[in-house]
Amino acid sequence: MAKSRASNVTRAKELAAKLQRQGVEGVVLSYVETAGINRIKTIPVARLPRATEVGVGMSPVFDTFLSDDSITTTGEMGGPDGDLRLFPDLDQIVVLAGQPGWAWAPVDRRTQDDEPYAACQRTFARTMIERAADAGLTVQMAFEIEWCVGKTGTDDFVPACSGSAYGMTRLVELSDYARDILTALEKEDVDVDQLHPEYAAGQFEVSVGAADPVAAADRSVLVRQTIRAVSAEHGVRPSFAPSVVPGTVGNGGHVHLSVWRDGTNVFAGGPGRFGMAEEGEAFAAGILAVLPALCAVGAPTPASYLRLVPSHWAGAFACWGRETRESAMRFVTGLAGTEKDAANFEVKSFDLAANPYLVVGALIAAGLRGVRDALTLPAEVTGDPARFSEEELAEMGVRRLPTSLDAAIDEFAACYFLREEMGKTLADAVLAVRRAEAERFRDAAPEDVAAALRWVF
Ligand code: GLU
Ligand code: MG
Repeated sequence: MAKSRASNVTRAKELAAKLQRQGVEGVVLSYVETAGINRIKTIPVARLPRATEVGVGMSPVFDTFLSDDSITTTGEMGGPDGDLRLFPDLDQIVVLAGQPGWAWAPVDRRTQDDEPYAACQRTFARTMIERAADAGLTVQMAFEIEWCVGKTGTDDFVPACSGSAYGMTRLVELSDYARDILTALEKEDVDVDQLHPEYAAGQFEVSVGAADPVAAADRSVLVRQTIRAVSAEHGVRPSFAPSVVPGTVGNGGHVHLSVWRDGTNVFAGGPGRFGMAEEGEAFAAGILAVLPALCAVGAPTPASYLRLVPSHWAGAFACWGRETRESAMRFVTGLAGTEKDAANFEVKSFDLAANPYLVVGALIAAGLRGVRDALTLPAEVTGDPARFSEEELAEMGVRRLPTSLDAAIDEFAACYFLREEMGKTLADAVLAVRRAEAERFRDAAPEDVAAALRWVF
């Protein structure tokens, strides 16, 4: 540790000098806490070597913050005591294209005794990646980012454009804005796959290339703050909230994932359905088996359940299907002949209020358990599962995912395996924050839930 810390400090000095030459004055040190909020400290760029050596202090209390900055507690957390050290990940420092003079670095959090912090979500994600590596597997992921572009000057959502879903008119209306997003992401070395007008009023989507899961989570944070900064320049307001206007289609945070053994994609070229190898099927089945509990991680607010409803392409049923956009797990094989690179599962049920590091770690944990227990997938479901009766769905072995945050919390609380993988400190924080968030909105009307969370994430 000490040796790598010393070489990191040498690197940080070079990096700080380079950033200064690029006009950077300040570096944002950022992490996402349990409620899904990106919390930060900033340092002058010249402090980067020092921050790399000893970290930057920040209270552990934020892991029990709610999305309105009120604070709940667990047996261990939530009080005024203690401190943590934030260590910037030098490999991921990015000069922010939408915020001149600023660079950004995700951090790992360590205790004052220089140990990994038990509730550091980014560390949890990395630990699960290491666990996969121990099993000989590599995972690649990508988060899709959906957001609705609103007018400023109001807390209501008033779309900043009026054109049709997937329509050219909408792009013409926000042409400079959309171009500036592409330019900014290009400058930040984010490999954008696509940008398009989405279904809901004023909605757009950016999808990016797959990466190592922690890097994919970092990118999810970076892309959103870049969109936020470009939006500010253009006098519009982005909402990444699960439900912007209740009753209409919301913003998803779909996660694409592929799993590799010895450089071979286990979702292609195998003897199973649509070319899945046994191991690939088992990984996917592991996720499907605990998807209701995973909703407490990936759909973490009451607003998430205004979005996660049938017939909205949000993935409200725990089933899988090839290119089935109503299943929670859409299997994607890509253009014929490209399956070996392209095949992946898209987990659709999650949204962008989720902590992406927790999502990444929990998905890998669930997948690895599927592989360990050699789970198999049930029959594929095509078409909209909403057309079946409850009895028919039960016969098919298809569950509706939780319809409320309370129901997801119950699933998570009962999912001993997932809580154990997270560790008690982290799992307790998830439970406490979700319970408090559910309590905060007890009996609130959907409009009030959406309004309270519309501009937060
Ligand atoms: N906006 C939808 C959601 O809430 C997803 C639409 C799509 O399939 O891209 O997840
Ligand atoms: Mg979409």
